[in-house]
Amino acid sequence: MVILKSPREIRKIRTSNQIVAEILSILESEVKPGVDTLYLNNLSEELAGKRKAKPAFKGYRGFPYSLCASVNEMVVHGFPSKKPLKEGDILSMDFGILFDGYYGDSALTVAVGRISESARRLIKITKEALFKGIEKAIPNGRLSDISHAVQSHVEAAGFSVVRIFVGHGIGCSLHEDPQIPNFGKPGMGIQLKPGMTLAIEPMVNEKGSDVEILEDGWTAVTKDDGLSAHFEHTIAITDKGPVILSTRDGG
Ligand code: MG
Ligand code: MG
Repeated sequence: MVILKSPREIRKIRTSNQIVAEILSILESEVKPGVDTLYLNNLSEELAGKRKAKPAFKGYRGFPYSLCASVNEMVVHGFPSKKPLKEGDILSMDFGILFDGYYGDSALTVAVGRISESARRLIKITKEALFKGIEKAIPNGRLSDISHAVQSHVEAAGFSVVRIFVGHGIGCSLHEDPQIPNFGKPGMGIQLKPGMTLAIEPMVNEKGSDVEILEDGWTAVTKDDGLSAHFEHTIAITDKGPVILSTRDGG
C-alpha cells in the first residue's frame, strides 16, 4: 500500500533528508587516498548524534554499520573497513537516518583522487540517470516511467542497470511501497500522485548487470568485477512535479 503524505509530513521528511544530505557532503569532503571507510562510518555516526538523528541502517535486518561504503566493484551494502582508499578508486556512500519519526535516505558515488576516464563517465551517467528518473515522477505519470527513463539513459551510454535491487517509498518506514525498479517498459505500474515520497536509486554497472552477494551476507559485487556506481535522492511528488528533499550542494 502506498502511503500518501500531507504537506506537514513532507516537510518532516525534508528535514530528515537535509540531515542526510549535510552529513553526506561532509563525508564527501573527507574522501581522499589513505582515508579508510570505517573512519567515514564512525564520522557519520558522530555527525548524526550531534543532530539527534538515529542512523537508519545500523541494525536494519542485522546490517552492522551506519554507512554503506561500496568500493569499485561493490554495488551496494559494502561494509566499512580499515583498508585505506587508494588513488583511482570510486566509493559509493549510502546513508540514512531517522529523525522526529521520519526517514531520510540518499547516496552518491565519489572519486578517490584521480580516476580513469571510464570511471568518471560511469559516475556521470549514473547521476544523470537519477535525474532522468526524477523528471518522470509527476502526477498522473506511471511508476515505470521512472524505471524506463533510468534504464534508457544508462543503456544508451553502454552501461547496464542492476536489477535485483530497487528504489522504494519512504516515510515513517525506511522502505515502503512502491518498489521502484531501474528498468522496465514505460506506462506500467501504479499511477503517480501528489503526496508520494520516493527514494529513487539507480545502481549502474560498467559491464554486465549481474550481481552476487559475498559471504558476509550483505556486500553486493558485480559478477564480472566491473565497476559500479550508485546515486539516490528522496523526492516528493507535488502538484507542480517532483521536489528533491535530499538536495546537496553540487547535486
Ligand atoms: Mg540509500
Ligand atoms: Mg534507499
